Amino acid sequence: MLTSIVGINWGDEGKGRMVDLLSKDFDIVCRYQGGNNAGHTVINERGKFILNLLPSGILRDGVVCVMGPGMVIDIKHLAGEMKRLRDAGIKISPENLKISDRAVITMPYNVQQDCLEEERLADKKFGSTKRGIAPVYADKYLKKSFRMGELLNMDRLAKRVPDIVEWKNLTIVNAYGSTPVKTEEMMEYFKEYGEPLKDYICDTGLYLNNAAKEGKKIMFEAQLGALRDIDFGIYPYTSSSSTIAAYAPIGAGVPNLKLTKTIGIMKAYSSCVGEGPFAAEYFGEKAEKLRNAGGEYGAATGRPRRVGPFDVVASKYGIRCQGADEIALTKLDILSGHEELEVCVGYELDGKVLTEFPFTDVLDDCKPVFKKVKGWNKDISNCRKKEDLPKEALDYIRFIEESCECKIRYVSVGAERDAYIEMY
Ligand code: GDP
Repeated sequence: MLTSIVGINWGDEGKGRMVDLLSKDFDIVCRYQGGNNAGHTVINERGKFILNLLPSGILRDGVVCVMGPGMVIDIKHLAGEMKRLRDAGIKISPENLKISDRAVITMPYNVQQDCLEEERLADKKFGSTKRGIAPVYADKYLKKSFRMGELLNMDRLAKRVPDIVEWKNLTIVNAYGSTPVKTEEMMEYFKEYGEPLKDYICDTGLYLNNAAKEGKKIMFEAQLGALRDIDFGIYPYTSSSSTIAAYAPIGAGVPNLKLTKTIGIMKAYSSCVGEGPFAAEYFGEKAEKLRNAGGEYGAATGRPRRVGPFDVVASKYGIRCQGADEIALTKLDILSGHEELEVCVGYELDGKVLTEFPFTDVLDDCKPVFKKVKGWNKDISNCRKKEDLPKEALDYIRFIEESCECKIRYVSVGAERDAYIEMY
């Protein structure tokens, strides 16, 4: 069984929380794209954890975690994340963590480049998380990056470093006028942060293929959401990787295997971090209230997130891009305490109402069309069965289900592991 768990919206849907919950039914959890630019927040009986690189399955005993070849890995950041978890009593060893030899290393100069470019763009900045993700993916496709497997042979690696450093300084020094990258420093960096990872690096594609043959249950965990996908998202305000489920087998290193199921994680309202078009956005007091109620501040960066009501147009598109078979609707508890709730059901453009998500460029000119639905006053965070939910909350779920044409199997009503309702 190969299941992917992916974001339907702009990210921050609560994927980490759902992966943590659903991983109880899986043997292996594999991250297949992105780097430490996103943060999954997981709260369980062992504490509160923010995971940037490690798959959320690392918090469950008996689950093996894989970091796939589609990822970009900042080895210094990974060292810090592993230390934080170990300090909290989480066991991490080559037995339960396997890192793909083909995954690309995010270098300190990629972070430097990311910062320099955002600075250069000034008020036209993309809202990058400045973790070097765009530059490292660019290097990957320019075929100038280092991969995890190279850490296994430092002598051979040492031969490549001067050429790459010389090339990188053409940009860092000549274009941006910044501090040059130095070969010796890079080698020291590889030794300090790469050496301790040696026993974790392997051919994860082979490992996963063998595991699949043995009938092991494998989950692919995505970072971000459909609207941040490099091809299908709100380009250029996207991430630099493929966040969609169809990429999961490739990014995990098993292009020969087929997904059995895709679970889409979708938030009961909208949030979007950084720049870019966000048609259903709330402003002022309305935004402030929702942001505070939902604690909408970036897990990786602490940035306040932009918020708005549930957006049917964008979510329906997200579900289509992800090919979601079923949905986990998260943070429904945040919407309690309102007489009425708004839902964005269309975008008005040039006097017409669009109900299909348009090309990014026209999104800036779209005005949201809101529909009012009944809210509920009862606190639902203690509801564990469908029958516990107020009628209006059930109607809200049904309305979303019907307008998005996708089955909502799980409804999350709190950040804790057991705070959810299974609807079917
Ligand atoms: P991810 O990147 O998709 O994993 O999402 P984040 O971790 O950035 O954001 C989700 C946040 O909401 C985290 O702080 C979770 O602990 C929290 N969360 C997840 N599901 C729920 C829920 O149903 N209710 C509430 N109140 N919080 C939730």
